[in-house]
Amino acid sequence: MNNYDVIVVGSGLLGLSTAYQAQKAGARVLVVDRGAVAYEASSRATGYLSLRADDPDEAPLAEMAEKLWDGLDEELGYPTEWTQKGRLWVAFSDKQLEELDATYKAFQRADFGFEIIDADACRKLIPILSDETRAGLYTPRSGHANPQRVSQAYAWAFQDLGGVIVENTPVYSVIAEAGKVKGVKTATGELYADRVVLCAGGYNANLLEPFGVVFPVASVRLEALVTTPLPPMYEVGFIGLNGLSIRQTKRGNLHANGGPHEWVDVDADHEPAKPNTPIVRNLVRRMIEAFPVAKGTQLLRTWAGVLDITRDQKTIIHRFDHPEGLLVAAGAGHGFGMCPAIGIAMADLALKGETSAPVDRLSLDRFAGLSPDWKVQKKWDAGSYNT
Ligand SMILES: Cc1cc2nc3c(=O)[nH]c(=O)nc-3n(C[C@H](O)[C@H](O)[C@H](O)COP(=O)(O)OP(=O)(O)OC[C@H]3O[C@@H](n4cnc5c(N)ncnc54)[C@H](O)[C@@H]3O)c2cc1C
Repeated sequence: MNNYDVIVVGSGLLGLSTAYQAQKAGARVLVVDRGAVAYEASSRATGYLSLRADDPDEAPLAEMAEKLWDGLDEELGYPTEWTQKGRLWVAFSDKQLEELDATYKAFQRADFGFEIIDADACRKLIPILSDETRAGLYTPRSGHANPQRVSQAYAWAFQDLGGVIVENTPVYSVIAEAGKVKGVKTATGELYADRVVLCAGGYNANLLEPFGVVFPVASVRLEALVTTPLPPMYEVGFIGLNGLSIRQTKRGNLHANGGPHEWVDVDADHEPAKPNTPIVRNLVRRMIEAFPVAKGTQLLRTWAGVLDITRDQKTIIHRFDHPEGLLVAAGAGHGFGMCPAIGIAMADLALKGETSAPVDRLSLDRFAGLSPDWKVQKKWDAGSYNT
């Protein structure tokens, strides 16, 4: 007998937002995670919403997410520290100026009100920017939130509605019979539901392989750090063209992440390895280049996160016809910002089989015929780096 209508595999933000929306719609939802709630990419992210202006396939979903972020504290009943003061890409060299110009041209595909601003205007937005600042690209509509608060808010709001989260329980496979989903096989036994939603990051690929699906995600490790607090000085999201993102938290800490990124393998039973001191030192060097005042701070914490990047770096939202009842979502490196909208789309697809969310161009169909060795071809196989 099914105790649940929907089983969600993975308690990151894609899983939790889907679970929250499905439970809110009246379904009985169980979330199962290999580890602790939102312990992987979702709570380790920087916390930016990207409007995906260079991508007409994704921009409508990002705009939907933008509207939802605005009311999310009220919706969930817990603080997320969302702030929407825009985002600033900053160039510090001639080469980076060229990249800034290329980014500007790419963003013109969407009408989100971007503008190139000079160094003085950049410093009005972020007073601690270095004297080497050359120019910036400013978008007023992006925002950021605290990833740990957001993860907590979704988990608590879901549980407040009666939703159940089971931790420390790896899912090994999806059970399907006669073309229909029946549940999942876990480390502690089988769990049953007619709908199974896979939100297990890079491990989605392993869970889909038995169904003959080449799921186009690769897992990548990304380093991050947070300094001791400075007086609050800026609220826009900083993106340096030196490969570093730095937001200032509500308490004044500088929270940074950046490349290079290392491609890794994931498995069901073990947490992916995370620390990487030499790369963190490199992040610190670039942070001081951008914000010289950071030299007076100390590192409070450093960590790494493993996220899944899809082959075309766009979100995947897919409902399978065979087996019926199986769905999958992948965040493509910007799932944090998109999560309020992805949750609604996935819950609709799981419960009603359709959604009015703009996800038509985000299904797996775009990867038909993908070769199983696509990662090797793209040099995204475990052990290699990119920036
Ligand atoms: C350092 C860093 C910075 C980032 N910055 C941003 C940003 O600024 N903006 C943005 O939009 N995105 C950002 N991202 C990306 C974003 O974090 C991800 O796109 C998003 O969190 C993906 O959510 P998820 O729920 O799919 O994955 P996750 O949060 O990784 O959750 C997947 C869950 O599945 C569980 N799981 C895996 N295998 C199994 C299994 N076999 N059985 C059961 N459970 C399993 C894992 O334990 C995990 O809890 C960043 C990521 C990192 C690492």
